[in-house]
Amino acid sequence: MLEANILESYRAAGDIAAKIREEAGKIVKEGTPLIKICDALEKRIIKEGGKPAFPLNISLNDVAAHYTSPPDDKTTIPPKALVKVDIGVQVEGYIADTAVTISVGKVGMELIKASELALENALKTIKHGVKSSSIGEIIEKTIKEFGFKPISNLTGHLLEKYNLHAGKSIPNVKTKIGFVLKEGEVYAMEPFATTGEGIVEDSKYAYIYRLPSPKTSTQFLSYIAREFKTLPFAARWLIYKFPRNKIEELIRKFVSAQIIQAYPVLVERGKGTVSQAEHTFIVKRNGCEIISA
Ligand code: MN
Ligand code: MN
Repeated sequence: MLEANILESYRAAGDIAAKIREEAGKIVKEGTPLIKICDALEKRIIKEGGKPAFPLNISLNDVAAHYTSPPDDKTTIPPKALVKVDIGVQVEGYIADTAVTISVGKVGMELIKASELALENALKTIKHGVKSSSIGEIIEKTIKEFGFKPISNLTGHLLEKYNLHAGKSIPNVKTKIGFVLKEGEVYAMEPFATTGEGIVEDSKYAYIYRLPSPKTSTQFLSYIAREFKTLPFAARWLIYKFPRNKIEELIRKFVSAQIIQAYPVLVERGKGTVSQAEHTFIVKRNGCEIISA
């Protein structure tokens, strides 16, 4: 069981995340600059009383995840694009993580349906004691029935205070080993469906970073530790505080010193188009509460 004030924070984060997801559907259009979408939705999170739990992810077509606009991004939404918008909201460190795939120009409608139905089918089975492997099995089966592949090396994840990936992963395919979900735990579930190989790999680009253990040795690191705690951040978030030409240099320096962790943009290996659906839920004795619905 979660304490009342923790539950309240999760619900508040979930409500905001759901609102932002709806807003994303209205502003993602052909020709819109990605940076405008990132800025607008992140600002809206703050206006609603939350904070971004990670930079807004906006991933196009065969990019599965982890794209956010760098400070001078000129990318716009292309015609006929499948756009994944992945939103994280935190209230007092308690996180709601949700994603939606938007079709621009009526492409990939079946692919969108596949990940959405996989999420829906798997969520129906959630309760105290359900096995992670059986969740993966349902997701895989649903997506394969559409003729697509689930992405096997992306997973859902346990959420804890200021911790986006708290150690346990919900698979998108049937697995031999696993664990049991317990009442009171909070998870994000996120099936990905693709027309490609079903595997993502790191690209050479990374625009999302994290400071895994708080450091205060420099003004730069102590600012990051204070503002974002151990949650992911973007260079865009630093331009109001530090000289623009310094930010990239400092990030590069601390990444190579392994003080800052970089999250490469993840691309589908077969260059297949990718859809994603995601919700955050609290495990209950006889079901679950979807906080981002
Ligand atoms: Mn997400
Ligand atoms: Mn997630």
